[in-house]
Amino acid sequence: MHELGLLEEFLKRPHQEISQVRARIGGDDILLGEMSYLRTRCRFMALMPQWDFLDFLAEQGRRYPTFHLRMRAEVTGLIEENACIVGIRANTPDGLLEVCADLVVGADGRDSVVRERAGFAVRNVGASMDALQIRLSKHANDPDLFLYSDHGKTLVTIDRGNYWHCGFAVPKGTAEKMQARGIEDFRASIAEVAPFLRDRVIELRDWSDVKLLTVRADRLRKWYRPGLLCIGDAAHAMSPIGGVGINLAIQDAVAAANILAEPLRKGVVSGKHLAKIQRRRSFPTRLTQRMQAIIQRQVWRGLDKPQAARPPWAMRQLERTTLPCRMRTRFIGVGFLPEHVKPPDVFK
Ligand SMILES: Cc1cc2nc3c(=O)[nH]c(=O)nc-3n(C[C@H](O)[C@H](O)[C@H](O)COP(=O)(O)OP(=O)(O)OC[C@H]3O[C@@H](n4cnc5c(N)ncnc54)[C@H](O)[C@@H]3O)c2cc1C
Repeated sequence: MHELGLLEEFLKRPHQEISQVRARIGGDDILLGEMSYLRTRCRFMALMPQWDFLDFLAEQGRRYPTFHLRMRAEVTGLIEENACIVGIRANTPDGLLEVCADLVVGADGRDSVVRERAGFAVRNVGASMDALQIRLSKHANDPDLFLYSDHGKTLVTIDRGNYWHCGFAVPKGTAEKMQARGIEDFRASIAEVAPFLRDRVIELRDWSDVKLLTVRADRLRKWYRPGLLCIGDAAHAMSPIGGVGINLAIQDAVAAANILAEPLRKGVVSGKHLAKIQRRRSFPTRLTQRMQAIIQRQVWRGLDKPQAARPPWAMRQLERTTLPCRMRTRFIGVGFLPEHVKPPDVFK
């Protein structure tokens, strides 16, 4: 945001600033992340609902005379000529829309239609959990922890100002079984792992107040074809572990912009440019997915174990030093290969 000159405007929007990410695991409080360790412009994490962030980006994009945003346009297919992608087809409230482009960028997330229509080969790297999303009201003296894990249950609580946006992790494929046990059982699980929510789990009237989010972890073997590039979750679906998928998606976009700005302007985008983007971004992607898999195995191992969970002794000793927290902060805050905006802003 700072490199784009948008930071000040961005911070004027309602958001929550978090400088520490703390968790309660098996009764022990652990500092997961301390943002003051980062060498970034802002030493905090700004939390904002995704729709507000996208509105902000759309508003800023309108400064550029060549920027066009089509809302409520759902891409349904690709236009192909001589084995080259030359545009997309989309359904809109006004009917079918066709857009031709020198380059189509598929950034349509983990259920990407673009990747599917392009026929890309996908490598599944394994996600063993799904998430049940709920919203519970927030009280003035609630603890400000981000994650609770105990008794085989894990709950993430995101501060949205006047309510908690919560994600309850369940082993993959078990959500239906939970539903069969009834909402009472689910309410009791929330109260067990985060006792301060005991007095408001009643706000979950029935299962219509609970949204199942299917988690995926995969990546494309090849992210591009002539005329087409996939980035973000469309190229590599990320699990929520570590809260790093958005960073990775934005970093892909920055790397793509840095590499493509000049060739796009000259109209000479080639397979070599697209391959360069994949080469640059696949290393941090693979490493991040590997880390997520390790964390998933270590921390989430407790999901099917009903007894109280405590981190191993060695880990608790290490936690007395700042090293593990510094490493986690780096992973959460900037990842393995941060990107910096390079193309000149030609419209400034
Ligand atoms: C349960 C869960 C929780 C997560 N929590 C976090 C977290 O806290 N922090 C974090 O960093 N990451 C988190 N992640 C991962 C993160 O959501 C993704 O890695 C990140 O959103 C990827 O960004 P993206 O822009 O590639 O895709 P998305 O954010 O999914 O954006 C894709 C966009 O494309 C649009 N779209 C989809 N299909 C079409 C179509 N056919 N036509 C037109 N538009 C389309 C969608 O409406 C959407 O706006 C979580 C993932 C899951 C599953």
